[in-house]
Amino acid sequence: MENCIFCKIVNGEIPSDRVFENDLVLAFLDINPINPGHTLVIPKKHFNSLEEVEPEYLCEMTKIAQKIGSRLKQAIKADGFNLGLNNGKGAGQVVPHVHLHIMPRFKGDGLKLWPGKDISREKMTEIATAMKQSIE
Ligand code: AMP
Ligand code: ZN
Repeated sequence: MENCIFCKIVNGEIPSDRVFENDLVLAFLDINPINPGHTLVIPKKHFNSLEEVEPEYLCEMTKIAQKIGSRLKQAIKADGFNLGLNNGKGAGQVVPHVHLHIMPRFKGDGLKLWPGKDISREKMTEIATAMKQSIE
């Protein structure tokens, strides 16, 4: 898509440090990493969000994320990794071309990606009930 920064990376109009690509997906290093080695996996075709991405591309993204996660442990001795996907502006998505973050973690790196909130059992039951009704 015109004016999409990640489409420009796919097309080679903007440089990137590529770590993997095939017909469906591209993986490259995040320019502003949470830790060194932070990698983004994107579909080569433009989709704005997780809801829009075609299953073929989504499957490949997760398959490659799994391989990249293991590679981060071997190549840069990460102790683990987090997967992330900011879906929609309200969730902090800045680049509107769906992408998976693979974030290497190191013992003692001090990152805490999501603080937990207290919630009552009643509220949890209410939410679970509402969600079950809307998932087909
Ligand atoms: P998000 O908030 O999930 O949309 O994250 C977008 C990510 O893209 C951020 O982590 C940015 O650091 C990263 N990013 C933006 N521009 C580039 C670029 N040209 N090359 C590599 N990563 C980028
Ligand atoms: Zn795009």
